[in-house]
Amino acid sequence: MDLEQLRKTAAEVASREDVKYLVGWKPGTYGYRVAPAFIENADGAAELIFSPLCTANLATYLTLVEELPVPRGQEPDDRKIALMVKGCDSRAVTQLLVEKGIERDEVVIIGCPCPGMIDDCLLAEKYPETEEPAEVKWDGEDFLLIRGGEETKVARDEVLAEKCRLCRYPNPVVSDITLGEEVETWELGEDQGVKEIEGKGVDERAEYWAEQFDKCVRCYSCRNVCPLCYCQDCILDRLNPTWVNRSVNFSENTAFNIARAFHLAGRCIECGECERVCPANIPLGKLNRKLAREVRDKYGFEPGVDPDAEPFQASFKPDDPEDFIL
Ligand code: SF4
Ligand code: SF4
Ligand code: SF4
Repeated sequence: MDLEQLRKTAAEVASREDVKYLVGWKPGTYGYRVAPAFIENADGAAELIFSPLCTANLATYLTLVEELPVPRGQEPDDRKIALMVKGCDSRAVTQLLVEKGIERDEVVIIGCPCPGMIDDCLLAEKYPETEEPAEVKWDGEDFLLIRGGEETKVARDEVLAEKCRLCRYPNPVVSDITLGEEVETWELGEDQGVKEIEGKGVDERAEYWAEQFDKCVRCYSCRNVCPLCYCQDCILDRLNPTWVNRSVNFSENTAFNIARAFHLAGRCIECGECERVCPANIPLGKLNRKLAREVRDKYGFEPGVDPDAEPFQASFKPDDPEDFIL
């Protein structure tokens, strides 16, 4: 994508009277870091970037807006939020529209066709991160790492994020403005993570997840980063009744993770953010993608692709045979 075009378009959008601010990506302060940028005027657009390091899904900021009471005599600020989205991020926005978490006239969606993002942990394993900020560009099929004035070609297969290997929607499924050309979809490999889980017997699966959930430190990062975990009254916070205790132990950790996974079934758009931020390296993607596959295979439903769809967990068919009810 042409950065000049991005910044020009962003400056126009951020200057609009009906836009409060624009959310995009900007360079971080060191190494491979990239940070969210909140742009309130045309000048701010100069810091925006779109690079293979912009892995984070910014759609989560749409529902994190603090809604303070409006002082008497003042009008609420109903201006729109403009948001830069990749394909997976646009699925989160679409799912939020389906669930009425946001309304269509509250957002300006700036679509960024996405050739694939880097897993910065894989990149750091091969090219250890330093304090010096680095830049990464797409270079044909591969990536180009630029730091300290040196350019290094990095093979796509070595550092591509897992979610991108499995991506079926690299182009935004919804947008008001699209930047650059649509990218061609690529051949998808098998989902090895889900295959590995499906290849285990019941006891072996239980043992595997017990080992994983035992590592959970209950930092709630997975929930807080998730664009679809936005209930104001979250079951995981409730004290009366207490569905999940505060204690960090295997039993409560399991309840926490299973509750989250089931609340995301038919809603998770597989952006991989929960796994990316987990400090305990729990493979949450395997769990979410397994549930997503079940929902797809059994009910023919895929979240975040059709803004006119009925929300999966809040709909039913009157002629459902309900064979499972005894
Ligand atoms: S999952 Fe698809 S849209 Fe999302 S970052 Fe990867 S390639 Fe881009
Ligand atoms: S991010 Fe990881 S460690 Fe933190 S609560 Fe979620 S699963 Fe547990
Ligand atoms: S559960 Fe994880 S992968 Fe699914 S939408 Fe939330 S952050 Fe993304």
